[in-house]
Amino acid sequence: MSKQQPLRPEIGQPVHLDDYDPDYTGDYDSKHAAKEQLEHNRDRMRELQEVLYAEDKHALLIVLQAMDAGGKDGTIRHVMRGVNPQGVRVTSFKVPTPEELDHDFLWRIHQHTPGRGEIGIFNRSHYEDVLVVRVEKLVPENVWQVRYDHINAFEQMLADSGVTILKFYLHISKAEQKERFQARLDDPTKHWKFSRGDLTVRAKWDRYMAAYENALTRCNTEWAPWHIVPANKKWYRNLVISNVIVETLEHLDMHYPEAEPDLDTVVIPD
Ligand code: ADP
Repeated sequence: MSKQQPLRPEIGQPVHLDDYDPDYTGDYDSKHAAKEQLEHNRDRMRELQEVLYAEDKHALLIVLQAMDAGGKDGTIRHVMRGVNPQGVRVTSFKVPTPEELDHDFLWRIHQHTPGRGEIGIFNRSHYEDVLVVRVEKLVPENVWQVRYDHINAFEQMLADSGVTILKFYLHISKAEQKERFQARLDDPTKHWKFSRGDLTVRAKWDRYMAAYENALTRCNTEWAPWHIVPANKKWYRNLVISNVIVETLEHLDMHYPEAEPDLDTVVIPD
């Protein structure tokens, strides 16, 4: 068995992504071995989400960040399968519009944070403002440097307001990205997922990794921890993320709301 690899980097310690193996699969040696646990997690998540929705007290925010082809879409599709769509909202953050750029970088984000009873999933997030924005030099360094503190304060405010925050970095290798890009090129039904611009970003892989390491180090807090998910194997990625979501929801100690008194005496008129 390979050495245990931590899922959550220690708070306050610098993250070096080279220390994290994207091929790691823990105690599981195959997709088949993980299947049962994943199915169990899906059932449990469905039950827990129903209580979350009914109780209307807590909110859960799931942040997904990854390089292109890192598996954000697949994670949402597989992990959230079967969950009642009424209580889940996925927001994909794209290149900001002119109106969004006229505001502070968190303005567009805050509008999409989950309300009580809801699960919100961010497909990309405010972290783009210290990742792509930093690497592509879209704003000067003095602007992005202060954003780590802004993000921590923003996330703390959300946590203080009843939002549980889970952040996942889907860690794939550069070789795995190449394979996934090639698969997109080889399959006409996947051509829409490919853009030449993805290769320009890929060429700056090391700079992106450095920017990720900074975000994973500086914005790893008690109230909004990062998880570094080994993501070369999709099945292990799904398993890890569903484990964390289920454990987190279990810990919220949620209950269905009190029923009105004497419901057993209610007679429904014809
Ligand atoms: P995805 O790759 O997530 O499936 P797209 O292909 O539409 O979706 O890519 C969205 C693009 O928007 C990415 O290139 C991402 O870097 C970019 N983007 C997101 N947020 C910002 C931001 N704040 N500033 C600049 N670019 C951003």
